[in-house]
Parts: sequence; structure tokens; C-alpha cells
Amino acid sequence: MGFVEGLRCRECRRAYPIEALHVCDYCFGPLEVVYDYEALAAVVDRDRIAAGPRTIWRYADLLPTPGAPELDLQVGCTPLVRAERLAAELGLGELYVKDDTRNPTGSFKDRVVAVALSKARELGLKVAACASTGNLANSVAAHAARAGMTSYVLIPSDLEHVKVATTAVFGGRLLAVEGTYDDVNRLCAELASEHPDWAFVNVNVRPYYSEGSKTLAFEVAEQLGWQLPDHVVVPIASGSQLTKIHKGFEELQKVGLVEEAPVRISGAQAQGCSPVAQAFAAGTDAVRPVKPDTIAKSLAIGNPADGYYALEVARTTGGVIEAVTDDEILEGIHLLARTEGIFAETAGGVTIATLAKLARAGIVRHDERVVAYVTGNGLKTVEALGDSVGPSAVIAPTLESFAAAEDAEAKVLTEYLPEPVDAATLDAEIKNAIREIGASSRRDMGKVMGILKAKLAGRADMSEVSRRVRDQLTD
Ligand SMILES: [Zn+2]
Repeated sequence: MGFVEGLRCRECRRAYPIEALHVCDYCFGPLEVVYDYEALAAVVDRDRIAAGPRTIWRYADLLPTPGAPELDLQVGCTPLVRAERLAAELGLGELYVKDDTRNPTGSFKDRVVAVALSKARELGLKVAACASTGNLANSVAAHAARAGMTSYVLIPSDLEHVKVATTAVFGGRLLAVEGTYDDVNRLCAELASEHPDWAFVNVNVRPYYSEGSKTLAFEVAEQLGWQLPDHVVVPIASGSQLTKIHKGFEELQKVGLVEEAPVRISGAQAQGCSPVAQAFAAGTDAVRPVKPDTIAKSLAIGNPADGYYALEVARTTGGVIEAVTDDEILEGIHLLARTEGIFAETAGGVTIATLAKLARAGIVRHDERVVAYVTGNGLKTVEALGDSVGPSAVIAPTLESFAAAEDAEAKVLTEYLPEPVDAATLDAEIKNAIREIGASSRRDMGKVMGILKAKLAGRADMSEVSRRVRDQLTD
């Protein structure tokens, strides 16, 4: 059993055994896995982790399963990308993108499903099940296939063909339910009480499942040379991922793997489904359910189970929870793709757009080491891009046609684009912007860049602008 002591109710602290349980019988609070941190601190060190596999299982001591399962999809150890070009555009300093588009089925869900199904097999459960609108469906079907488990994946019948195909291909039972996602969820809950011997990954094995998200914190710290970031931006659907990233950073400090240091944790939502951001703005603890209407479907949970705890984490760590519009989400996807070569799904667009908004507001600062969590691959949500993508031109297969298209493009550029600004005007604009907000150090670079971006859009190379702002501000 490793270092796991048992399950405990997050509200009334009652203890429960390590079984397929997720809710407290007394107060209906969520159950959470408890570890013996003293014993962990005595055994776990950086060398022991470094000697482990290049997957999430290198952190097995800090997970509720004994070790790497025999049949695995090689989840985790995704790149932590230093995002210098994106940082320059946003007026930020040391910025990283945690690129979880690189997991086996293209999203962070592989982390939680790997832990849930490994635990399920240990508990003797042979059927994997879930209700999902996409990422979770992909991951459960793929992991079940690899482990030789039966899977039941329930989806709304009007789901996009690509999500049906990328789940069905793994060969499990895929049931399209005539109804909304809420109907699917309710049916799933009813099935869970009919079949207590099935592992419903986000129902009866949820305490183990959600622990998988801690590896997003562990990997970032290890990839930073066992140091903590100053500020992270995390998307919020149920809120579980954000709270578990927080728990992960706390545990690293508890067992002595990193020096103690504060990590600000900020949350990102789509305005069309932003119950947690609304509660944050209103200064209340009450997360009021909403009816989702956003292109960020993987974040569209109107009644987030861990919303309250996500609020608590943002408030106690000095973070914020902010929301962005669908247009801003698309801009976020394009911005990340064109500056760093990473194609994120709409949830990643939410994270990047929120990061940009917080940089402009001076909340994410130039003097902070920042990590943005990009949790899913853009190939999953191509339809959301709509008309915002397409060929630059359609040409005949001849050199003349190619040249004509380039001439036409050059003509468009000279005719329709505003005059580029010269260096002297640029420096004057930068001085004005610095004066306007009374910026005194590089901490305020995000705010200054926000003003300049609005003024100089399309007329100057923003990386060049960023360099000049840096030169005018001292640390
Ligand atoms: Zn309780």
C-alpha cells in the first residue's frame, strides 16, 4: 500500500478505508486520500525519483497506487517549454508552458485515468466506465484497451463525429445517450449504484482519479530543477485539477523535495461558463450554478464539484480567478500557436487568454516565474476555430500563380496596413505608456505592453517593442 493511510472526509475529517468510495456517509463531503508524510519524508528523495520511469509513475510514492502498472500508456513527463516569444508579447519575464497536449490521448486526463484504473485493478474492479463529452472518453477507452479491461463510455448522442471516432476506435462499449450531458451524468450515477463493482473513474474511484493531477505540480518542480514557480495559471472545469496542483506543490514542501516558498495559483474560465470566476469577483464562497454556453466545451461544467475549494486555493495563495470571452479564447489559441508552435484545444486558449489578461492587469508580473498549464491538444477542437483558419491563398500549380499570390499579398500589406512606426516614435510611445501607469520597474511590464499592444497593433514587431520596454525599465 506504500504510504497511503486511508481516505478522509474533507469536511468532517471522518476516516474511511481504501475502497471504491467517494462521498462521506455523514456529511456528503468529498473523500480525499491521506498519506503518512513523515514516513514519506524519510524515504523519498530526488535521486529515488530520478531513478524511476519517465512517466507519472516516477512519483508513485506520492500517489495512491503501489507503482507503475505492468500495462501502461506511458503517461506524463510532458515538456515544460520556456516560452520566450510569448513572454515578450505579454511583457512577462520567465514564462513556461506545461505542454500536456503531448499525453497519449492528447490531454491531461491520461494522468487521472491512469491512476484511477491502476487503483481499480488493485481493488479488483474489472470494468472501467465514465460519462464524458470528449477528453475523458478518449482516455478511458484507450487505457481500458491497453489494460484489457471492459469499458463503458457514455456520451450525449449529438457529440461531434471526431470525438465519437477517437473513442470508438479503441473498441470498448460506447453508448450514445439521447439527451444532454446532464442526462448522461444522471444515468451514469444510477448505473454506479447498480454496479458497485465497476470503476466509474470520476464517481466511485474519484478520490484516486483526482490524485493523478498532482503530477502536474511534481513534474513542473522537477523540470525547474526542484524549484517552485512563483505563479501558475490553471484552467477550471470542476476545479479539481487546480486544487490538486496546489496539493502537489504543498506535498513537495512537506516531504522536503523543495524549499518552502509561496506559489500563487490563479484559475481560468470561459465567460460562457464562469461560476467560479463570478464567485471570486463577487467576493463570496457560494458558487452559483450556470447553464454553459461556450466554445470551451471541455471546461463547460455549470455546477463545478470543487468550485468552492478552487476559490479557497486562489484566495489563500494570492491568486485570482478570471474569465475570458469566446473571441479571446480563439485569440489565445492563435497567440500560443504562432509564438510557440503549440496547438492547444479551446481549454488551452482559455488559459493563454487569461494569462494575457492578467499580465495586462499587472496581476501576473514580469518578476515572477510563471507556468501556464495547457491541458489538451488542438486537434480535438478543430471545429471551434471555424473561419479563423484557412489557406493564405488558393493557387494553380505554376510558378506564375505562386508569384501572383505573393504580389497580391504584398499589395494588401502596403495598401491596407497602417504605416509602421519608426524607432523614435516607438520610444516616445513607450515613454508615454510608462508615464501613463506610473510604471517604475519591470514588474509593470505586462501593463505597459497591454497599452502598447492596443496602440501599435499591426504597426510594430511586439518582440522588438518588448525589448525596448525592458531597456527603459530597470529591475
Ligand atoms: Zn464528512
